[in-house]
Amino acid sequence: MSPLPGFPGSGLAKGLAVTLRTMTKKSVTAQYPDTQPALAPRTRGVIGLFEENCTVCMLCARECPDWCIYIDSHKETVPAAAPGGRDRSRNVLDRFAIDFSLCMYCGICIEVCPFDALFWSPEFEYAETDIRELTHERDKLREWMWTVPAPPALDPAAEEPKELAAARKTADKLAAQAAARPDPHPGPQADPKGEDS
Ligand code: SF4
Ligand code: SF4
Repeated sequence: MSPLPGFPGSGLAKGLAVTLRTMTKKSVTAQYPDTQPALAPRTRGVIGLFEENCTVCMLCARECPDWCIYIDSHKETVPAAAPGGRDRSRNVLDRFAIDFSLCMYCGICIEVCPFDALFWSPEFEYAETDIRELTHERDKLREWMWTVPAPPALDPAAEEPKELAAARKTADKLAAQAAARPDPHPGPQADPKGEDS
């Protein structure tokens, strides 16, 4: 048995010193749920789906290591835009669900999505008492999309993203076309002599 260090009761004194030190420090515990935690801006809380961007390419479902993304779709024929053109086919999303009881929040699905349809939301209050309730469907994933924070601002010296440049070019072209079009409802012509008839 090792000898007790110092004088008798030194352990008690040390313990009280720790207690006193801790009592005078600011508390780090938050009274959740009365107080919401201050989360980091890019917190991985849950995955939001922006389904307008999803082309049902299935990349996210294929790359998910846990196989917890469920996607169903069907094909639809889009008639040719101009006479003589060919009809096209496109995928229509029927189901998009994620089983958060299996998800390990690795973010691979978000990284691999080529069409920016998946995003991290800091929302974390979706605990359930039944594990089966943790499979969330597209409506819920879409709802979480609106809690996704805006991306950080670009570096002032950064090059403008090519998507913005393309959007601006299209908007300018449309504005120029609209300006060149004759006014379908012209107002009364001004009398060049300034005389009333
Ligand atoms: S975060 Fe990872 S585990 Fe979760 S759905 Fe995406 S790829 Fe799968
Ligand atoms: S990778 Fe993106 S676009 Fe492709 S199915 Fe998944 S969410 Fe949709």
